[in-house]
Amino acid sequence: MLAGTTYPKAYPNGRCYCGCGAVLKDRTAFWVRGHDGEAAHRVIRDRYGNVADFVIAHEQDGLAALSEKVGRLEQLVFVNGREDGPLFDHLRTDEQWREMRDLTHEVGRAGIPIYCPGAWAVLTLAAGLLAEYNSKVLPTKVMSAFRARRAVNRQPR
Ligand SMILES: [Zn+2]
Repeated sequence: MLAGTTYPKAYPNGRCYCGCGAVLKDRTAFWVRGHDGEAAHRVIRDRYGNVADFVIAHEQDGLAALSEKVGRLEQLVFVNGREDGPLFDHLRTDEQWREMRDLTHEVGRAGIPIYCPGAWAVLTLAAGLLAEYNSKVLPTKVMSAFRARRAVNRQPR
């Protein structure tokens, strides 16, 4: 299913959905036994030609969605553009760090095909930056927030 696409929902109508015209005894059923497979094959043949072409088209939809996410991840890794390199000194907002973390998890879970080395590189860089952020910047931020709050509490009233 294409991301962001919604399709109408099918409801049982008492007849086989394949179009054979058979009336179903079970009013909650969609199919005469076995007709669902035939109907699926017919749709695949009509739209894609054959099952192999259908599978490839489906994978390409997934790849398109994935490459969009990798593109955004790359922007977050190279905040100031490619020339600047993925230096840790790049200033990223908390929101950008969160987005990078979420995208890294999403892309990592989805799995990058072996023939996409650029995407692998971006994912690896993002994971490295996040590890450094988590080990250095995050504790510092938490501590400075803690100190700021303590300082406020200690002010004479
Ligand atoms: Zn049928």
